Amino acid sequence: MLTIDGSYGEGGGQIIRTSLALSLVTGKAFRVERVRANRQRPGLQRQHLTAVLSAAKIGNASVEGARVGATEFSFIPGEVTPGEYSFSIGTAGSASLVMQALLPPLMIADAPSVLAIEGGTHNLHAPPFEFLQKAFLPLVNRTGPRVSLELERYGFYPPGGGRINVLIEPTGERRRLDLLLRGEILRRRARALVVRLPPHIAERELAVLGDELGWNEDELELETSSNAVSPGNIVTVEISSEHLTEVFTGMGERGVRAEVVASRAASEAQEYLSLDVPVGVHLADQLLIPLALGGGGRYVTGPLSLHTRTNIEIVRKFLDVKITTAQLSEHVWRIEVEN
Ligand code: ATP
Repeated sequence: MLTIDGSYGEGGGQIIRTSLALSLVTGKAFRVERVRANRQRPGLQRQHLTAVLSAAKIGNASVEGARVGATEFSFIPGEVTPGEYSFSIGTAGSASLVMQALLPPLMIADAPSVLAIEGGTHNLHAPPFEFLQKAFLPLVNRTGPRVSLELERYGFYPPGGGRINVLIEPTGERRRLDLLLRGEILRRRARALVVRLPPHIAERELAVLGDELGWNEDELELETSSNAVSPGNIVTVEISSEHLTEVFTGMGERGVRAEVVASRAASEAQEYLSLDVPVGVHLADQLLIPLALGGGGRYVTGPLSLHTRTNIEIVRKFLDVKITTAQLSEHVWRIEVEN
């Protein structure tokens, strides 16, 4: 059984999700110690526990010690069974992150799956729905499988109650993915969404986005919705280039001014544009597994985050792949995955 140190590097939930996913892919059992040791509230929280129990369900695994607050648990995988599943986190814990743990084994399984996951769809420090749909999954699909995602209901902190549906069709193909250049920018769009909140919040956000990004009126979009159990606000900056689409997000928070929310998304987008790399900071840590399970590949990105460095180590523990990083200039790096 592999022993995983949950305090390694980033020391957060990603170590658990990567371990669950790759344990199901390889059939290797693991035990995690010091779960999420670097977080304010260490141990498994609802979102992580749901990921453990959902992974156990799709992979007929036996689990020992997993409950809310647990700082150690073990996971012995069985056979992955694709099919229709429904999972609920029961809080605003991120549905996207639960999906992150389940997708890798199901996308290389021998039959399709449909997942319905209830929880938060737009959380701080987690991939929001638009990022998964427009940035991450199109790249995953270029490595072989066909995965599509639908938002049935928004879910925001604190009650959650959102729902995403994921359709996963494995194809048996393993294609190489190289993202070395961004290419020309083809389309830019900044969107401010208010759900059960007054539109003036979104108007103020669009004013900041227009100002800071210097984009035209027709590249700014206001959207309203009431499709959630609680209010929420998101700013999404989408940049489609020749070789990929990137999405940057500002998440509305109680006590944080709309201008600040918009400005956070604009700064992330501006940093990406000024670095002139194809792959942004969040895609950089999330692309490792699809490339490792696909046909390998290379991508150019900005400075390596602790999430990326940590994920590289965890992937290496489970898979027999060679992952190398090279610094190309002060702020530009290349990651190569060979399998
Ligand atoms: P904790 O660390 O508290 O356990 P966690 O389970 O939420 O938290 P992390 O280990 O911090 O998980 O991982 C968060 C994941 O969400 C990373 O893969 C990161 O790239 C991704 N992420 C965070 N913010 C964004 C964003 N704005 N867009 C896309 N992906 C994001």
